[in-house]
Amino acid sequence: MESKKITCIVCPKGCQIDVKLENGQIISIENYGCKRGIDYARNEVLDPRRVLTTTLKLSTGRVIPVRTKEPIPKKCLKKAMLETKNIVVEPPVKVGDVLVKNIAGTGIDLIATGNAK
Ligand code: SF4
Repeated sequence: MESKKITCIVCPKGCQIDVKLENGQIISIENYGCKRGIDYARNEVLDPRRVLTTTLKLSTGRVIPVRTKEPIPKKCLKKAMLETKNIVVEPPVKVGDVLVKNIAGTGIDLIATGNAK
């Protein structure tokens, strides 16, 4: 049996949740302060994901802040960062515009979180 301690980041309480696994399957989740912690701990153990926030170059020489529309698998973060390196975006850009579709083959888009004229 394997044990993992997961710090829940869903709210500031930061519960230290104990997850026990056997053969890659979760057999128990304990010490969560509320039900949201159960989902967080399950996802963190079986499919950890993060929102990628970064910037893309603009053709004007400036940069535009971007993020993935949804969290992407943690293991894809590096590949996604590498993909963004050589992208140059042509303004105008509005908040929410999709600037890269299907980043790193995750099926999730990279969207602008700023405006550029
Ligand atoms: S388990 Fe619930 S109470 Fe505890 S940190 Fe997560 S969201 Fe907050």
